[in-house]
Amino acid sequence: QLKVMDEKEIKRLEELDKKYFLHPTSSLKQHQEKGPKFIFTEGNGVYLKDVHGDQYIDALASLWNVNIGHGRKELGEVASQQMGKLAYSSAFNNLSHEPVIRLSEKLASLTPGDLNVFFYTSGGSESNDTAFKLVRHYWKLKGLPEKKKIIGLERGYHGVTVAASSATAIRQFQEMAPGKAPDFLHAVPHKTNCELGDKNDPDYARSLRGIIEREGAETIAAVIMEPVQGAGGIHIAPEGYFEAVRQLCDEYGILMIADEVICGFGRTGQMFGVDNWNVVPDVMSMAKGITSGYIQLGAVGITERLRDDLANVSNDVLFHGFTYSGHPTACAVALKNIDILEKENLVEHTKQMESVLAKGFNYLEEKHSIVAKSRAKGLLGAFELLADRENGIQFSPDKTVAPLLVEQCFKRKLIVRPVTYGGTNIIAMSPPLVMTKEEIETMIAIFDEAIKAVKKTIL
Ligand code: PLP
Repeated sequence: QLKVMDEKEIKRLEELDKKYFLHPTSSLKQHQEKGPKFIFTEGNGVYLKDVHGDQYIDALASLWNVNIGHGRKELGEVASQQMGKLAYSSAFNNLSHEPVIRLSEKLASLTPGDLNVFFYTSGGSESNDTAFKLVRHYWKLKGLPEKKKIIGLERGYHGVTVAASSATAIRQFQEMAPGKAPDFLHAVPHKTNCELGDKNDPDYARSLRGIIEREGAETIAAVIMEPVQGAGGIHIAPEGYFEAVRQLCDEYGILMIADEVICGFGRTGQMFGVDNWNVVPDVMSMAKGITSGYIQLGAVGITERLRDDLANVSNDVLFHGFTYSGHPTACAVALKNIDILEKENLVEHTKQMESVLAKGFNYLEEKHSIVAKSRAKGLLGAFELLADRENGIQFSPDKTVAPLLVEQCFKRKLIVRPVTYGGTNIIAMSPPLVMTKEEIETMIAIFDEAIKAVKKTIL
């Protein structure tokens, strides 16, 4: 193996990291004890290389975002050209520039229905915050200021700003000050029968329909949901669910927000997650795959109807905008990223790879009795580790089996993520969409070995 950095310099970087860097969503205690887990230096396709010259399969596409894979020099070239020409200019007060106009036209051609109007942010949390503000503003302008509640789903993840973490239903993210903002509620996920009106279901009161009936539609602005729940553990809605939610929203005059931050731009084998069910939301949040993580960008799509209503009722300024709303360089990179997705047929490839991933998971389930409930939508997949698969019994909380397995995967140069909220032991993956059949098979072979090693320690 090629050493890319000498040991002394690596130690120094580790010490500096410990001393000066506060890591996001990380154990600070572990960081102070052990320093950074990896220091990466380069990426290529599905691979990341660290300071020791070791190469890892990045089976999470870093943070579910490097859709076109690492090391695409073309994106750097486009960024360099745009920076040389017009690195930045504002879009406030109706100022504009070429990349933002061209990207908006492109997005309009890709998003379903009349979701043809776009607002820009720097990431997913800002996109969701923007979505919440826009829908509340909309109802206020319509003379219905009481319509302000937002209903998300349990296990949903929507980001970490105050509003986005309030829509998030993973307790740990809400416990950090300042806690949960008012007017955010959470419904039991994926209960199609309840959303269709089955009052005999014991979960009815906790369903979207049950909550809307209890709270009154006149108090509810919107529902928000991920087409496939990601950070909550890769949960795929049953067929008919999104259609039922769309119908419910129409019935009660409530707006539907699809959080496409992970699912957008090919992840599920369709350009957008909602395309799997041909459902058109009123608002769509995007980020991550829009630039494959090469530069920060998020977007919020709204329907032309919504924009026209906003424009017709109000002569006022839309008092919402970030300095980097519609950043020219980020927009230029997004356009090139989408161009690559299309030219290389990566959405179709992702669709094809779903069955390869599913086959690999089946193999693991056949070989290991602790592997259960595997699922895949495009290249978004997961399996669970259960103490007793036949009876669906979880491991006891003192056995953190998913983190153990992830450690064993790291040792074998595979990066995946454990999801342990609510006592689960889920292994989540979301590799770059360029992952080949052979690379999926290598990943499954590594899981096989890593699971054997874990079984030795826990059984
Ligand atoms: N929404 C979803 C579905 C996400 O998965 C994420 C991030 O993982 C976000 C929103 C927040 O995006 P960001 O981290 O860019 O603020």
